[in-house]
Amino acid sequence: MKKIIGVTFLVLAGLAIILVYRAETVFENRQAAAADLVADFPLDEQGAVQRFAQAITYPTISYDDRSNFDAAAFRDFAAFVETAYPLVNQQLKKTVVNDYSLVYHLPGDDSSLNPVLFMGHMDVVPIDPISRDSWTHDPFGGVVADGTIWGRGTMDDKLSVITLLEAMEQLLSEGIQPHRSVYLAFGHDEEVGGQDGAEQIAAWFADQNVRFEFVLDEGGVITEGIIDSVQAPVAIIGIAEKGWINLELVVNAPGGHSSQPPDHTAVGILSAAIVRVEDNPFPANMDYMMMTINAIGRYMPFMDRLFLANRWLFSGLIERQLIKDPGNASGVRTTTAATMISGSPKSNILPTRASAIVNFRIMPGETGKTVRDRVVGLIDDERVEVNIASNWDPSPLSPTDSAAYELIASTIRAFDPDVLVAPYMVRGGTDAKNYYPLTDNVYRFILVRVNADTIRHVHGIDEHIAVEEYLRAIRFYYHLITRAMN
Ligand SMILES: [Zn+2]
Repeated sequence: MKKIIGVTFLVLAGLAIILVYRAETVFENRQAAAADLVADFPLDEQGAVQRFAQAITYPTISYDDRSNFDAAAFRDFAAFVETAYPLVNQQLKKTVVNDYSLVYHLPGDDSSLNPVLFMGHMDVVPIDPISRDSWTHDPFGGVVADGTIWGRGTMDDKLSVITLLEAMEQLLSEGIQPHRSVYLAFGHDEEVGGQDGAEQIAAWFADQNVRFEFVLDEGGVITEGIIDSVQAPVAIIGIAEKGWINLELVVNAPGGHSSQPPDHTAVGILSAAIVRVEDNPFPANMDYMMMTINAIGRYMPFMDRLFLANRWLFSGLIERQLIKDPGNASGVRTTTAATMISGSPKSNILPTRASAIVNFRIMPGETGKTVRDRVVGLIDDERVEVNIASNWDPSPLSPTDSAAYELIASTIRAFDPDVLVAPYMVRGGTDAKNYYPLTDNVYRFILVRVNADTIRHVHGIDEHIAVEEYLRAIRFYYHLITRAMN
């Protein structure tokens, strides 16, 4: 008996050594301190805060129902940009794309260098009328109180637009002469898909055969306490984004009076189909989660590393843990969400047509077609039509060993040497998805610290940003643009 325990112990000890060895060798994070890159400069902080507060007052709202589009709000916002940023207005070449989107160009003196593009979007999501009274300050009041700027767009995404403009105005006031061309592009309908804004801007660039060294959009931030068991803040740079497909499930039936119903009405057949799809979630794919974890893994507690570095042994366990939480699950698999449904228009009429929309967010490696094929197989019922209502396939992956990625990462580290930098797959959609034909290097990041609380307010009640964070974001762009154009 003793002997067996001894042997078992030896085997376990050996396994543990192998596991530890793997844990130490799998993870690496290149750290480059470069504090001298981000020397401070005098910034008109009070003016910058006032201009941001003013920018928030324009209700540049994107509505799902395009007939609500408020053209005047966008024109007024553009006019505000013109007067608030006089040097940008005088020295950069401005192009208005599709009536409302704005592109600014600062030409470099070395035409052999591909230009860089910094992006943001001017539109914001609406205020839910039910919750409007719950806002501490008017969402379009441009209120600055308690060291905080309040209102819709303070995070998503007038933050990008205004901090880019502030940084550019500052650089122009110092008489910069870039070697590399710099573009700023601000779309006007990101929150409803970007077809009228970013998609048209990208097409406009394509017409001129512009190739970018890199494109930087919103979509990554510095997270604090969001990634389990990692104490240090983590800057996540978006290098890919999920795609999506809306599948319309339709059941047609003869109809009639509800007093003489069949066993299953069109609504019943449709409901059973939806349940079959929901009950069979897409398989987990850990590759993209691991991409992030591999970059920060050595800062995780030992046991976590042990598990993650040895997925070949523990993968089932890790996946089961991860997919318990919807936030984590969305990072490892194509998600399924039945969102819209309709049937008969009257309670005593049998439906002749029942339909539903199921929204899927597609992992890289899959496509709208593979998702539809799987759904048709799961439903396995000829009475249920499965139509593609709309579809955008997942993006390719931008490299993490490009000079552009290193430029962004090293500028982040120079700002805050304690920050870990990691690549990340963005789960929502961004305007950046339109730029893959124009560059291999599409990244998503803005230097703003986000925790579980602040993220709750984005698209929600009491969206806000600390003045200090806003000013840091300006300084980050100032240095990033400076480094990019030289
Ligand atoms: Zn946004």
